[in-house]
Amino acid sequence: MAVARILFTLPLPEPFDYTVPEGMGLEPGAYVAAPVGPYDRLGMVVEVLGDEVSSGRKLKPVTAVYEAPPMGAPMREFLAWVARYTVTHPGQVLAMALRARDGLLPSPVETRYRLTGTLPERMTPARQKVLDVYRNCPEMSGNDHLLAAADIAAAANVSSGVVKGMVEAGALEPVEIDSDPPFAIPDPDLPGASLTGEQATAAVELRAAIQQGGFSAFLLDGVTGSGKTEVYFEAIAETLRSDPEAQILVLLPEIALTQAILARFQARFGAAPAPWHSGMNPKDRRRTWREAVHGRARIVIGARSALFLPYRKLRLIIVDEEHDTSFKQEDGVTYHARDLAVMRAKTEGGQVILASATPALETAVNAEAGRYVRLRLSARPGASRLPDIELVDLRKAPPEKGKWLSPVLERALIQTLANGEQSLLFLNRRGYAPLVICKACGERLKTPGTENWLTEHRYSGRLVCHVTGYSIPKPAKCPHCGAADSLMGVGPGVERVAEEVRVLLPNARIEIFSSDTAQGGDAVRSLVERMEQGEIDVMIGTQIVAKGHNFPNLTLVGVVDADSGLKGGDLRAGERTYQLLSQVAGRAGRAERPGRALVQTYAPDNPAMEALAANDRDGFLQIEQDVRAELVLPPFGRLAAMILSAPSAELVDKIALEIAAAAPNGEGIEVFGPAPAPITVLRGRHRRRFLIKSPRIVDLSAYMTAWTARLKLPAQVRISVDIDPYSF
Ligand code: ADP
Repeated sequence: MAVARILFTLPLPEPFDYTVPEGMGLEPGAYVAAPVGPYDRLGMVVEVLGDEVSSGRKLKPVTAVYEAPPMGAPMREFLAWVARYTVTHPGQVLAMALRARDGLLPSPVETRYRLTGTLPERMTPARQKVLDVYRNCPEMSGNDHLLAAADIAAAANVSSGVVKGMVEAGALEPVEIDSDPPFAIPDPDLPGASLTGEQATAAVELRAAIQQGGFSAFLLDGVTGSGKTEVYFEAIAETLRSDPEAQILVLLPEIALTQAILARFQARFGAAPAPWHSGMNPKDRRRTWREAVHGRARIVIGARSALFLPYRKLRLIIVDEEHDTSFKQEDGVTYHARDLAVMRAKTEGGQVILASATPALETAVNAEAGRYVRLRLSARPGASRLPDIELVDLRKAPPEKGKWLSPVLERALIQTLANGEQSLLFLNRRGYAPLVICKACGERLKTPGTENWLTEHRYSGRLVCHVTGYSIPKPAKCPHCGAADSLMGVGPGVERVAEEVRVLLPNARIEIFSSDTAQGGDAVRSLVERMEQGEIDVMIGTQIVAKGHNFPNLTLVGVVDADSGLKGGDLRAGERTYQLLSQVAGRAGRAERPGRALVQTYAPDNPAMEALAANDRDGFLQIEQDVRAELVLPPFGRLAAMILSAPSAELVDKIALEIAAAAPNGEGIEVFGPAPAPITVLRGRHRRRFLIKSPRIVDLSAYMTAWTARLKLPAQVRISVDIDPYSF
């Protein structure tokens, strides 16, 4: 009897062996159910072995095989690589690919009802209302007069018993329909924009690579609004034409996945792409997963985890806003979707396009080294110009006491409103004030057991921890000294800036755009639409506004506190600040109207600020690059973090010393720590961290695997490895 080696979606170090029942054809990549302990678990066949291996061992049989197409060899190779690279169990990586596992079950059916043409013998007013629903609102079905019982009852304002009665009376008949209908097929040959010279040159190169086939990687390096989307649309069209089964994945930062971008795809290809993001309900998820696995979803547009769907034939991957830090997954299996996208395209032998106006340093270095082909778009099409960026030196022209907007920015806001144009104030801090202190005793309010400050949210009247989500109503007395009315918010948040703007511009229509005011797709959509339609004069937003939106009447961008991201010891602080601020500034002046960006800073001679004002991105990248090369930091060296956590500080400190002692020797490897992790306490667990640094040529993943494999840890202690950590 043949033996199948099965990998389960569990954190187990190895696959397990099972016998294959007679008549069950199994091949590598097939999805199966097989017993692990008392339960059947979902797994994937990694290998099918001949009879001889099974001799002498008593193996259990595979229970069942799913009908879905088996996972292809390139995807399996990719998952194995990810597990090795990220120092995780292969089963945990497989679990990411099978997140919508119920997509493996047969397509579910729903019952709908249609008119038979026979009238019920006994007509009642309620029954008449049901007939009227069919006659009057044919468009509500969208499905050839097939209506769900609940919809009929609601539209006719009758009970569902009436519908049932009409079925019994022969006036309605039930029809079973597929509740996971396929996505519409995109048409590559609908007309797109007529491309500018630069855009056309880039499109020609991409088309040539697609026609030639095989792996290739591109950096689509174009200023904001230069038409990068239009260019990659051409690559998508060519891929669709090249092979009737080819699939395309477009990765976007989660918050850029708005209706606007879906509508652009719909307009260009006559069909909405299949979406994949964290806000989807399980039913929609299952549908996208199933359609991707069967190869029927030709274009999938999703957040980082869409990279792990087991596509049938993935030929092209686009990573839009590739520099965006939301592509870095920090929880569970830690990875950077951009880097993995390149690896995925390589294993599939397809193309990958990284698009950005402010490429990550890693990407710029790769392009310089010739690993990626750089395609440049240096201008916006038509009359649209890039905004002028001016630094406002707060040391010389500070805001008045108790205010956050300098006189220069105030004047600009007044002028913009007078011109009938829109302004955007950017401040990457939710709530009213990022810190609450007691005027009486000086206590800073923190989340219990941690060093995290509580942020005051005035609209909700609460103090909230932005790290752990801990939240309490704002106390009337200081919890430390008991003084009444002594708690005071310190520093600006978007709510406080909005308060200031209301005083400055009492007649302006002002809105806050943050994850507090815009929760869920509908709220975001409605704010964006109102802004697009000119119903808002001043928008005050966090980074949620920085991306993707195109507001034609927005001519002024004010950055309230440009320095906030520069604080802290983050390796990429300068780079991120530059990226975020140039992206925010790029919101201004998209259409025919010129834009202006005023950037308030106390550090105008910081290289990031100087480069912003001079519009000298490449000069800035060069400085950053020199610093990193000098310090042998990524991408010139490798970095890993190991975080250990335990329920008590004593235990975690004791184990940390044991782990330190177990570190293997390695050529050129430096181990720093243990030290408190940046988030020292999370969900009741105390955290310590090691940082590990090595030259580029060292296989740091292998080193970390060797180290962790030696450890025998008590059950309460957890350990996780982050290769190329982003926050430290
Ligand atoms: P990016 O992705 O580089 O920010 P977009 O592709 O979103 O740029 O283009 C910015 C705006 O310019 C969009 O409204 C787009 O429709 C328009 N646009 C881009 N290229 C052209 C073109 N060749 N002709 C007309 N409009 C264009």
